[in-house]
Amino acid sequence: MQIIEIYKSLQGESSYAGVPCVFVRLAGCNLRCVWCDSEYTFKGGLRMTLEEVEREVLRLAPHHGLVEITGGEPLLQEREVVPLMERLLAAGYTVLLETSGERPLERVPSQVVKIVDVKCPDSGEGETFRLENLLALTPRDEVKFVIASRRDYEFARDFIHQHDLSSRVASVILSPAFGKDAAGSRDASHCLVDPQELAEWMLADGLNARLGLQIHKFIWEPSLKGV
Ligand code: SF4
Repeated sequence: MQIIEIYKSLQGESSYAGVPCVFVRLAGCNLRCVWCDSEYTFKGGLRMTLEEVEREVLRLAPHHGLVEITGGEPLLQEREVVPLMERLLAAGYTVLLETSGERPLERVPSQVVKIVDVKCPDSGEGETFRLENLLALTPRDEVKFVIASRRDYEFARDFIHQHDLSSRVASVILSPAFGKDAAGSRDASHCLVDPQELAEWMLADGLNARLGLQIHKFIWEPSLKGV
């Protein structure tokens, strides 16, 4: 499989936020979200076998815990990534999978916690969510909307209601988009929507969802990779 990096940090943007986690970041993505902060994953990477990846995860987290499979879009390498997730589960890890929502989810092992994006209009990749994926969601999964505008918020709110998302999954997360070239100060000034404004919209609508902040961008310098 083609790997960009394997490293240990804190999980940053789900209900597991703040928990130590080993990240396995795979190369390649078929989408081009306008605020993407992972463009360095689009090309290159290192060819590694399943055994090599598993060994590196074990080296970084010998006592198990969280492993997140991310990208890019990890399910572009589904043939290798499904057996990898099965092996990590069998070894005793809690496995998270971050995916764009555009790839089919039905072959992802059911014990994996899927963190599935639904791309909003101002990502430039709206309407890429595969509606059949709603059927593959389990009560341990999470659905995430990255919000860059009021228009995105209204799309997310309506989608959550229309598909009764809050009763299907463990967590529905609305997260303000960060500017692509965010650098310097570790604060909310880089968010494309002020978190306070987003919180007020959610409260005004009584939305059954969670406000998410990408906490790694508040802990470390926002443009830093490998954190
Ligand atoms: S799906 Fe993820 S990696 Fe791909 S372009 Fe969008 S934000 Fe970037």
